[in-house]
Amino acid sequence: MVKANYEYSQNLLGTIVSLTIYEANETAVKAVFATLKILEDKLTVNRPLSEVMSINMAAGKHAVEVSRPVFDLIAQALQISLQPNCYFNCAIGALVKLWQIGFKGQQVPTDEQIKQHLLLTNPRDIELNTDNHSIFLKRKGMQIDLGAIAKGYIADVIKEVLVKHNIHQAMINLGGNVLTIGDSPLSDDKNWHVGLKKPFSRNQELVGIINVNNRSVVTSGIYERFFYQHNHLYHHILNPFTGYPLDNELESVTIISKSSLEGDIYSTILYGLGVSKGCEFLQRHSNLAAIFLLKNKTIVLANTDNFYFQLLDKQYQVKQY
Ligand code: FAD
Ligand code: MG
Repeated sequence: MVKANYEYSQNLLGTIVSLTIYEANETAVKAVFATLKILEDKLTVNRPLSEVMSINMAAGKHAVEVSRPVFDLIAQALQISLQPNCYFNCAIGALVKLWQIGFKGQQVPTDEQIKQHLLLTNPRDIELNTDNHSIFLKRKGMQIDLGAIAKGYIADVIKEVLVKHNIHQAMINLGGNVLTIGDSPLSDDKNWHVGLKKPFSRNQELVGIINVNNRSVVTSGIYERFFYQHNHLYHHILNPFTGYPLDNELESVTIISKSSLEGDIYSTILYGLGVSKGCEFLQRHSNLAAIFLLKNKTIVLANTDNFYFQLLDKQYQVKQY
């Protein structure tokens, strides 16, 4: 028997957050949205007050003590950012704020501005003190930005909240970060059906359906936050080495993984690596699967053990790596 579903959504994290569950449970729903709000308030860099903003405001001046979850998340983000040639850099905030992509005031900066702001994005200039959970940004003007990891982290925390409330079948969607919990009660094969968006489509069309079970599905793409200037598209995933938006053959990368945190981190990193290097990377990381959607309408699937992809739009051609 198909169970009734209960859907809840709110505007949070600069997007529409939605929760689908299959038993009425007001207490759980309240706890989920309250947790989302608390985490947004701690992690946002889009308002003057938050724990992350207090670190950023004190850059070059003094260390700031933060709560344990914020410290741990920044420690994880830093560890990834310090890996050699990594396209994920949590110290990229000054450049994100310079470009303002997706926000009022978005602009193409001058080469000189980019050069100056790049100097403020070295992750080695983030100092962590594990004794008192304080964080110090060594250079004035430096800014931590957790935009490429926070939604993944938050989705995993929400899963814990649901499980604590005895909910073992649910779907959380934080605007492109989807986390499925348990089996789907809606389909015979117990898979959840997660739509893969057609880039730049006006009517929310889908390229295909990703079928997964108890997995996170996170997409990083160039079609949600972007602007055009002189016919050139500028999108929000920046190349931390040049300071300009990453420019390659991809329109989006979707990562299928156990945790949404990993999905969020690696969707950004694999966007930067591109298809060829990305697939090499995935050969060494069998816990992650990926769907690369190329500008030339090819879809490349890698590590397909934990999902299957159903193509809906016949303009696209699917290739298996
Ligand atoms: P991802 O690919 O996962 O990340 C891209 C984002 O990470 C960029 O937007 C930038 O912030 C940052 N970034 C860019 N390049 C890199 C890089 N090389 N390495 C590391 N990070 C990089 N949006 C609003 O419009 N208004 C809001 O008030 C608002 N509040 C938010 C509060 C929170 C707590 C969070 C997590 C997000 C919020 N957002 C808001 C959305 C946010 O600005 C980003 O657009 C969003 O997090 C991007 O996620 P993504 O999964 O689409 O992209
Ligand atoms: Mg990401």
